[in-house]
Amino acid sequence: MTITLSLKSVGEQSVRTERDLQAISAELHSQDALEWRAISGRVTPYDVAEELTRSRTRARVLTTRAESSSSSEKLASAQDRYDSAVDDELRLLSVGRTQEAEEVDEAEVDPAFDAVMDLLQEHSGAASSAAARAQWLSNAGIVITVALGLGLTAFVENRRRRAQLRRDAERRSEARYRALIDRSSDLVLVSDREGVLSYLSPSAQRVLAVTGAGAGTVVGAGAGAGAGAGAGAVLNVLALVHESDRDALRVALQQVHPQRGVTVDVRLRTDSSMRTLAISVQDLTSDPAVGGLVLTCHDLTERHELQQQLEHRALHDTLTGLPNRALLAERFAQVLGASADGGAGTGSATALLLIDLDRFKEINDTLGHHYGDELLIQIDPRLRQVLRAGDTIARLGGDEFAVLLAGVGDLETAVAIAYELQEVLTLPFEVEGVTLDVEASIGIALSGMHGDDPAALMQRADVAMYAAKQHGVGVAVYDSSIDGHSPERLALLGDLRRALSNDELILHYQPKIAVDTGEVCGVEALVRWQHPQRGMIAPDDFIPLAENTGLIGPLTTRVLELALGQARRWVDAGEALQVAVNLSARNLLDERLDRHVAELLTRYGVAPALLKLEVTESAVMVDPVRARAVLQRLHALGVQLSIDDFGAGYTSLAHLKNLPVSELKVDRSFVATMQTDSSNAMIVRSVIELGHNLGLSAVAEGVEDAAVLKALAGYSCDVAQGYHVSRPLPADAFERWRAAWPGIAEHQAIAG
Ligand code: C2E
Ligand code: CA
Ligand code: CA
Repeated sequence: MTITLSLKSVGEQSVRTERDLQAISAELHSQDALEWRAISGRVTPYDVAEELTRSRTRARVLTTRAESSSSSEKLASAQDRYDSAVDDELRLLSVGRTQEAEEVDEAEVDPAFDAVMDLLQEHSGAASSAAARAQWLSNAGIVITVALGLGLTAFVENRRRRAQLRRDAERRSEARYRALIDRSSDLVLVSDREGVLSYLSPSAQRVLAVTGAGAGTVVGAGAGAGAGAGAGAVLNVLALVHESDRDALRVALQQVHPQRGVTVDVRLRTDSSMRTLAISVQDLTSDPAVGGLVLTCHDLTERHELQQQLEHRALHDTLTGLPNRALLAERFAQVLGASADGGAGTGSATALLLIDLDRFKEINDTLGHHYGDELLIQIDPRLRQVLRAGDTIARLGGDEFAVLLAGVGDLETAVAIAYELQEVLTLPFEVEGVTLDVEASIGIALSGMHGDDPAALMQRADVAMYAAKQHGVGVAVYDSSIDGHSPERLALLGDLRRALSNDELILHYQPKIAVDTGEVCGVEALVRWQHPQRGMIAPDDFIPLAENTGLIGPLTTRVLELALGQARRWVDAGEALQVAVNLSARNLLDERLDRHVAELLTRYGVAPALLKLEVTESAVMVDPVRARAVLQRLHALGVQLSIDDFGAGYTSLAHLKNLPVSELKVDRSFVATMQTDSSNAMIVRSVIELGHNLGLSAVAEGVEDAAVLKALAGYSCDVAQGYHVSRPLPADAFERWRAAWPGIAEHQAIAG
């Protein structure tokens, strides 16, 4: 009986110890989980501190009890070591020294945890054999022992698996990071302060034509010939850089420090060409994983090329490659400025000749555009037969050309040259075996005699050209008495003034849709003039007139009133839509524009974000400083801004970056022809990418068919506008269109 009783008490004691040991490992398990949450960055060390302390206290109470019964002191000191290792780790974490914390975790926390677990298992073994001796008295003890033994093993395995998982995760994220670097078009280099390279990403090896053994080659072993270094030689990034940019990069390498990166633009020699790169230098010398300066090189070459191409297009006619009206105006201003500087001596007068082909339309209509185009291409070489090398020939549009005779001297010479030009143009042209005859009318204006600024001289040469045409005289010199242009203009101008007060201006609305969903995301308001006698007049036929006569201010006000009134009606009907209004260059010079817009928004009770203002790049370029100030103030109001007709005018990407705009509209001349003209398609794609790089939403206008819309989706274009979606419509017709608009999927299906 006594024996039985004592055996029974041994059994009960063991079972209690077993339970304590189980509870201790449960506490350790929860401490481990807390520590894991901190080291894996899900919470801060502070977030787990309190819970950790509580768990430790509980574990200590249990340990003291279990120890007294198992006569071992090792468990407590093992827990001490574990606690202090965890404390070290969390301290490092809390000051952001993650890397070191992870090292402590692996080198100290892990083994300390294992040691505690080993001891717990050992004790559990002792306790369970004691329990086994009393098994016939307490079957429950055995059951618990078995469960506890399994539990401990499971915890230890958890911990090991966790370490393994972490190592896997690290490997995975390293692999991901490496894949990113491998695939990035950015070149990644690691160098020391002298520029000596220790790492080139695969893209860098490709571009710099460094032949090496696979990704992440450490240079020194296999520097390539293309980079100018022999095998085994040390490769220096400075040697790859264009001489005149070398100092800038050298300074960047010397000056960069861990707290502040440096960025420099340099030209870099590659296997085949010179590339412009923006290099950002980061100092990661103290990061053992890198141990050097990291140079991330972003290739700007394509952007520069796009800029050059756009600039060329902005100033040249696509068909003939001749300078266009803008470039002519620029050269004209230069020539006049130079002759003004040089004093008005003989030979300083400049003549402007405007040439209009007389029978061109006939050729186009009867033989087709192809013949017309080929003929236009032959005009330049024809004129060159007569002209001096320095004379400028420009195509102003259609069948209109201009010739600038700088320093022609006097009117007689200019007239003589004009007759010669007229004569060579009357000689037959041959296009694909067909002989074509044209005639030309030429108008002449001479600087000094007929005006001093390019705009006035252009207008006068134009008047003279019409006179030559009207009277069939071939060549005419400007004469103020033949300036029949004015009366008609004056009449229309009077009409326009009336139109503003008589409500003859109306707006049509054209939807802008999201390319991916087809959702209608706004409308552009386009003005029309309902003239009582002449009928509907298109904006291109009266906006320029308004711009040249100071009427554009009142006109824009009227358009804003109509557009905001409509925006308000849509808001009231519960279907708010953003309305875009076009601004002219003149509007951007108006310092009070923002106050005026703010007042109108208040008057109509329309939220600023529902108004978008579209401005062209060339309008901004008229006076960039003033325009930017006006745009900044409009932006501050909360009004959205958009760059219209992008690619068609003067293009200054540098300026674009500093404007508070949110949208870039690709000019419709590129979009409409992108299916047939691959260089236009390239431009559309590049402009969309450029817009995205600048954080702007890209809009393509002039979308005339489903194929273009589909191609735009492939280019990740955000918004589309064009006849394919809808023509500009009066408000009521627009509302009917909107109610019936099925969204993009169905629309594509309908459109085939
Ligand atoms: P914009 O700002 O580039 O306006 C787009 C023009 O493209 C509109 O001509 C529109 O009808 C036309 N369009 C739209 N989709 C297509 C398409 O798929 N294919 C083609 N070929 N054309 C399409 P609209 O209405 O004749 O306006 C011409 C220009 O007049 C506008 O060009 C804008 O510069 C100016 N404008 C129109 N309304 C105003 C205004 O209220 N104020 C000012 N300052 N200018 C205006
Ligand atoms: Ca527009
Ligand atoms: Ca436009």
